[in-house]
Order: sequence, then C-alpha cells, then structure tokens
Amino acid sequence: MDKGDCKKVEQKSFHFNKKKRVIVKIGSSSLNYEETGCLNFTKLEHLVRELCNLRNRGMDVCLVSSGAIAVGRQSLGLSGPPKNISTKQACAAVGQARLMMIYQKLFAEYNQVAGQVLMTKNTMVNPVSRENARNTFEEMFRLGAIPIVNEHDTVSTYEMQFGDNDTLSAIVTSLTGADLLILLSDIDGLFTDDPRKNPDAKLIEVVEKMDSSLYEMAKSSTGSDVGTGGMATKLTAAKIATLSGADMIIANGKDVCILHHIFDDSFKGTIFQSEKRESFRIEDFILESIG
Ligand code: GLU
Repeated sequence: MDKGDCKKVEQKSFHFNKKKRVIVKIGSSSLNYEETGCLNFTKLEHLVRELCNLRNRGMDVCLVSSGAIAVGRQSLGLSGPPKNISTKQACAAVGQARLMMIYQKLFAEYNQVAGQVLMTKNTMVNPVSRENARNTFEEMFRLGAIPIVNEHDTVSTYEMQFGDNDTLSAIVTSLTGADLLILLSDIDGLFTDDPRKNPDAKLIEVVEKMDSSLYEMAKSSTGSDVGTGGMATKLTAAKIATLSGADMIIANGKDVCILHHIFDDSFKGTIFQSEKRESFRIEDFILESIG
C-alpha cells in the first residue's frame, strides 16, 4: 500500500492500543467504487488484513459491514439502488451471501475464523433473543472468531429495522461491552459545518461531552447513493457508544490503513470520549429513541 496515502495528524495520546474489544463499522460507500457501485477488492483485502492485525495485537475484533444490498444489486444486474422493500430484500439475500463468501476467503488467508451474525430490532427488543445474541458474541470472542454483523435485511420490515449500520454498530458495542467503536466513513469526522459546501468548516478532533450544539452541526446527508448513514445517525451511534462506556471514533475509510494509525495515536478523525452512565440500558434506548 502507498504509505503516502495515509495522512497523519499527531494527536494527544488516547492509548487506543490498550483497548480490549473493538467494533469496526464500514459502510457500503467505503467498500464500493463510486463510479460503478462494484466492490473494491483491494480495499476489502486491506481491511481484513488490518482487522487480523488487531486480533494479533490481542484484541477481540468485530466487523459491522454493510454492502449486502449494494453487492446484491450488482449481482442481479440492477442499474440503480432498489426502491421497493422486497427488491431490497432480494438484493440483500443474494448480496449478504456473496459478501460473506468473500470475507470468509480473505480472513482464512490470514488464518482467522469469521462468522456471520445478522440482527433485527427484534433481536434487541426481545429479552430472550437479546441474551442469546449476547451469549453468541461472547462465545465467538472466547473462541477467537471474528463476528461479521449486518442487519438481517431479508426479514426486517420497516417496523423491525435499525435502518442504518451506524446505529447497529453502536448497539453491538453496547451489547458486547466493547470499549471502542470505529466508524469508517466517507468523511474525515464531525465538522463545524458541511465541508463539501463550506471550505471554512473545521474538523472537531475530540468531543468530551455531547451537547445540543453538536446536533446543530450534524448534516444529515453523506452524498452517496449506496449507503444510508449521515452525520445525524453517527451522533446517535456516539450517544449509544459513549453512554455504554466505549470511546467512538469517526474516521475516513477511504484508506483503511487509518486503522493502524488509530492504534498508533496518529490519525485524523473525531474522537467521542466515553461518558459511561451506569443506568443506561440499550433496550430502553431502542424503545424510546429508535421507535
Ligand atoms: N444493511 C444494509 C446493507 O448491508 C446497509 C445499511 C447501511 O448502509 O447502513 O446493504
């Protein structure tokens, strides 16, 4: 990989290399070529290598990967993003299986075992399913396997949808008691204004406390036609992750080598610092805030 592509900005040390359990989320827009909507295999390979390295550092690692619908749409030869729910679900059925086939192959090349975990809102709202999901994650980590998570798009109808994987990855962070969530996005982090429209917009490097002014800054569009999460969903994710006791980072997934720069405390992005609240219950938050 061309090292020149990795823009480094020195930051004060957060010792992310001391983290024990890390959830990494990558969106469809970071996995696909913008021009064609096809998968970028080089990037997928680099991502998997970075994640295997985190395992080798001794961390529990979980990947929340979008891309099922985008991969399925390509496989089925659809020209644009599917509009109706059943077409999206059919795309997800085809695409999720293909995506896992690729991940399985790549993780196996680095002698790591990956497994698929698909979730709906029901998994979290139903106490028995939630406990089962928690136990499955725990057991996978104990066995050294890497869970690859996505929403169970083929069965999740509107009422049962999380809708975006930013929120889902924060829910997984909370459920598994992870201490770090990294959102690899198509933007460098949270800015004071939309950097695509305002050249004076400044990157916010550290958020110690989430307050209402942050929500004013968040713009709700990523400008991409393959993903779903905008900055508003990232702030919801940050709220869930930080109240659950994890730090959260938004960083640009354009070059996935940013992952090892994060663990060397030398990267550009936004860090949301943990504000653990003992009374925080993820199931209550889902019912009250996600509807
Ligand atoms: N679950 C959807 C998929 O895999 C993506 C959701 C998202 O982009 O946040 O295609």
